[in-house]
Amino acid sequence: MAIVYLCLGSNMGDRFNLVQNAVNLFSLAENCDIIRTSALYETEPWGYKDQNWFLNLIVEMKTSLSPEELLAKCQEIERFLGRDRTIEVRWGERLIDADIIFYGKEVINTEKLTIPHKYMHKRAFVLVPLLELIPDFVHPVLNRTISQIYDDLEDVEDVFLYGTRPNAAI
Ligand code: ATP
Ligand code: CA
Ligand code: CA
Repeated sequence: MAIVYLCLGSNMGDRFNLVQNAVNLFSLAENCDIIRTSALYETEPWGYKDQNWFLNLIVEMKTSLSPEELLAKCQEIERFLGRDRTIEVRWGERLIDADIIFYGKEVINTEKLTIPHKYMHKRAFVLVPLLELIPDFVHPVLNRTISQIYDDLEDVEDVFLYGTRPNAAI
């Protein structure tokens, strides 16, 4: 059994329903038990800016799936919700994205999987919801807590609690 942290995101279509459905699908998945989730956040695009804002949240889950099985489950749920990787731009628009941020304290570097997620320490949209859940969790590679990593962020993109973003279209 491992405690894992997933970051879910959507910036296309009915974003709210897509992230909610993704959480529901993880809660129904065999060998996956959601413990809690962060609040939902509306976040400025990271990397490639000229696209819709995202909705993001972190899911804390207990699982007996291996890291590879968990990745396969994430990709199965993405496909089920309509994601088609063949038509995507890197860091561009997507219906749903499910990334594994932490898998316990495991460190994995294979062709298919980098855990902890390789950009998590640069992304406010990952760190802000993680701060809510595990501010004192020590990143097993950086050896710093989530709070410390967040404090060290240089380029901080905007992250609002869902519903509090000024001038949001929806
Ligand atoms: P980013 O990883 O920078 O957030 P992305 O989510 O847009 O980018 P995807 O197109 O969703 O990238 O995934 C590309 C590949 O990333 C996947 O096929 C998967 O093998 C790999 N990958 C490596 N580490 C992870 C991880 N921790 N969680 C999810 N996918 C991962
Ligand atoms: Ca991602
Ligand atoms: Ca991804």
